[in-house]
Amino acid sequence: MIKDGKFGKYGGIFVPELLIPALEELEAAFLKYKDHTKFNNELEYYLSEFAGRPTSLYYAKNLSVKLGCKIYLKREDLLHTGAHKINNTLGQGLLAKYMGKERLIAETGAGQHGIATAVVGALFGFPTDVYMGSADIERQKLNVLRMELSGTRVLSVESGSKTLKDAINQALRDWITNVETTHYLIGSTVGPHPYPEMVKHFQSVIGLETRQQIIEKEEKLPDAVIACVGGGSNALGIFSAFLNDKNVELIGAEGGGDGPGGRNGATLTYGTEGVLHGSLSFVLQDHDGQISEAHSVSAGLDYPGVGPEHSQLKVTGRAKYVPIMDKEALRGFELLSKYEGIIPALESSHAVACAEKYAKKPENKGKTIIVNLSGRGDKDMHIVSQKMGVKA
Ligand SMILES: *Cc1c(COP(=O)(O)O)cnc(C)c1O
Repeated sequence: MIKDGKFGKYGGIFVPELLIPALEELEAAFLKYKDHTKFNNELEYYLSEFAGRPTSLYYAKNLSVKLGCKIYLKREDLLHTGAHKINNTLGQGLLAKYMGKERLIAETGAGQHGIATAVVGALFGFPTDVYMGSADIERQKLNVLRMELSGTRVLSVESGSKTLKDAINQALRDWITNVETTHYLIGSTVGPHPYPEMVKHFQSVIGLETRQQIIEKEEKLPDAVIACVGGGSNALGIFSAFLNDKNVELIGAEGGGDGPGGRNGATLTYGTEGVLHGSLSFVLQDHDGQISEAHSVSAGLDYPGVGPEHSQLKVTGRAKYVPIMDKEALRGFELLSKYEGIIPALESSHAVACAEKYAKKPENKGKTIIVNLSGRGDKDMHIVSQKMGVKA
């Protein structure tokens, strides 16, 4: 029998009855292979040889001098495809292979998870279909091309707002129809059990490396670990290694959009409890339970839900969540580019801006901070050039 998949009261399984057997099969396979030597050796091989792990924990000397704290960057931006998402798609892709599945499906908003799934589809030889809203396809033509070059079919979704939430509904419909042959590869710590636990597991490699690296460099644990939170996978990946270290502050930077009262993606700050995409968590919704349109300058933080484990970390107080406004994130983007020569993804720029806020508090002077640099900023150059008024 499947576990309830609860983090405190959050999480669970809120899906059509027809999907329960598929989730049971997935949970059983995940529990079987997560400690399986051959599986883990193979996964480690691809994480290092294909994706480029381990990533460095880089001491950002210039930024440290500027901000008066010791700042380390966990360089997930250096991975193949430019972000942490590949850790999870490699894990689930390999699991699908061990399960004897013949096909992958996924959904994507801006295209980053679609690309990370497409390359794994090519690597392991899976026919791969990625659902994407037609409005997103129009906005992200180059990402569609990237997926197609890897042999993935990008299926246009014309229903509703023609964006991510409609693509998710379509992917679920496909999975119900093709559940025997198909693995649904979810891209963050969201969805029904076992996805939040499984995605965290595949991202926990970030935290395991970071903990070892900071002890080697500093001979102690950091004072704070800061990561951006969309669905929450890069944050849980790095937080996971420090959850039991009560003296390490864990801070999640949410997409604060236009700020209080404005459009935003800061689910844990401004949301309320509700069920979205198969689990109970915090959700951006109106009084009637209608899901709000999320907004953030970064596509990866533009989601009206958040992984259920983050809801529990928030209500228990183990982690804190800070909304970072679009204009603050853009400042973080410029700050890291200028002082360190590292152009961060706009998502990761929220974590950089959050670190700057943290460092500015007098009581935090001289502290050691780790920022999870979840991805690189090449994909965001056109948005930044518009915002800065540069003609690209
Ligand atoms: C997708 C993405 C995110 C947000 O996803 P999480 O599951 O919250 O980690 C953050 N940073 C980058 C670079 C991304 O591509």
